[in-house]
Amino acid sequence: MALRSKAAKRPATSTEPRRRAKAAGGTGSAADFIPPNASLSALKKAAARCRGCDLYKDATQTVFGDGPRRARVMFVGEQPGDAEDKAGHPFVGASGKLLDRAMDAAGIDRDDAYVTNAVKHFKWAKDANGKRRIHKTPNRGEVRACFPWLGAEIARVQPEIIVCLGATAAKALMGPTFSVTKQRGVVQKTDWAPTLVATVHPSAVLRAPRPDRERQERAFIADLTRVARLLAKENRKRPMRARGKLLSWSATEAPSPTSSAQTRSSRG
Ligand code: SF4
Repeated sequence: MALRSKAAKRPATSTEPRRRAKAAGGTGSAADFIPPNASLSALKKAAARCRGCDLYKDATQTVFGDGPRRARVMFVGEQPGDAEDKAGHPFVGASGKLLDRAMDAAGIDRDDAYVTNAVKHFKWAKDANGKRRIHKTPNRGEVRACFPWLGAEIARVQPEIIVCLGATAAKALMGPTFSVTKQRGVVQKTDWAPTLVATVHPSAVLRAPRPDRERQERAFIADLTRVARLLAKENRKRPMRARGKLLSWSATEAPSPTSSAQTRSSRG
């Protein structure tokens, strides 16, 4: 197995994204709202009051992660959608239903999974008729401002495997040059978790044109099946939850994101 690199790069230290987030109305970072040594449930409560960027202004509520504190696998999406914004829980809309189906088909127990997003508030704009709220991709400053919540969730849950669903989650954890298209399904060894795998966001499968939709769903299920195999492999290697101490980096700032080594998964 490839070792983790000591030379993993830290993210760019430019203060520009934080400056932009501040200018837009937030403090510039969720770190300003994270209580020290907070439990996962305390983090969730604190996140409800976050003003790290201006996305809280147009959203109904903060949508924090859901799942067991010692989940073995963590799924990280982009941001809550319309249904999640209203419900206050991640992955409860159409994308969540597809994720549930795929997990079920892959044999991943939902009770073993923690689901969350890189950004905790819904970013949206009105459609042309002014009736529907249309998803807008969070910008880099917003992802960066929100990152401390995700870092804190990872530090508390300590998942064995992180599954990045889509480019926003993958870039948040692996750096801006990471390409899901090129590295889909490739096992990454990171400081976040022993194993990280990136695949598409389920909403991309839902958006696929009809003739291609079934194929895309099968490919998504195949990605999660590989994750299930990796979980089974980890299970054989060591007793459940025998992992050591909390990660050493602070939950209030973005730790080193970059994968150190990569190995091809057992694709195909
Ligand atoms: S998106 Fe994140 S950083 Fe911005 S206000 Fe919401 S929780 Fe805070």
